[in-house]
Amino acid sequence: MIALKKGHGELARQIQERSGINFNACLHCRTCTNACPFVAGMDYPPNALLRLVQMGMEQEALESSTIWVCVGCNTCCSFCPMAIDIPAVMDSLREKALATGVKIAEPDIVSFHDEVLKTIEKYGRTHKLEIMMRYKLKKRDFLSDMGVGLKMLKKRKLDLTPSRIKDKQALKKIFKKQIKQHKIDKQ
Ligand code: SF4
Ligand code: SF4
Repeated sequence: MIALKKGHGELARQIQERSGINFNACLHCRTCTNACPFVAGMDYPPNALLRLVQMGMEQEALESSTIWVCVGCNTCCSFCPMAIDIPAVMDSLREKALATGVKIAEPDIVSFHDEVLKTIEKYGRTHKLEIMMRYKLKKRDFLSDMGVGLKMLKKRKLDLTPSRIKDKQALKKIFKKQIKQHKIDKQ
């Protein structure tokens, strides 16, 4: 049996407030876990992660690989009998993990997210080729996925030049707001 720490409900309250999701309605039926296509790469399956949050096990939840392995595909919530938006909970946990500076279980995934965000900040859209090149450069790993990259280029799945949105000011505002929120979270 696990002894609950004093104030164990605080993490659940914070994540609920941030994500807007009432995961206390979870029945722990494991439907989400059975449906998740990425569960094999997670240290805690999705329903167990919800349980960690409910029990206030902050370090275990924030340092889990689960929050980074989740790709937000929504498969879990489309099967959930209580319609719990697990990807939104994962988003809030990722934000909190970055803000609190805990040990990140999957630093390469964070690095990749960074590169995706950089192209969105620059163009308003992702530019896959630039993301891959910058990510590879950062990791100093130039050859491992070369075959896949070439295949994608051949099938025209990678645009050589980025496409850009017109309203750059709106984009700037969104990023400014998020950077401000991130600074508040870190305090
Ligand atoms: S499917 Fe929904 S109710 Fe069932 S364990 Fe997952 S989150 Fe909880
Ligand atoms: S959103 Fe995340 S937890 Fe849900 S099925 Fe997809 S990868 Fe799994």
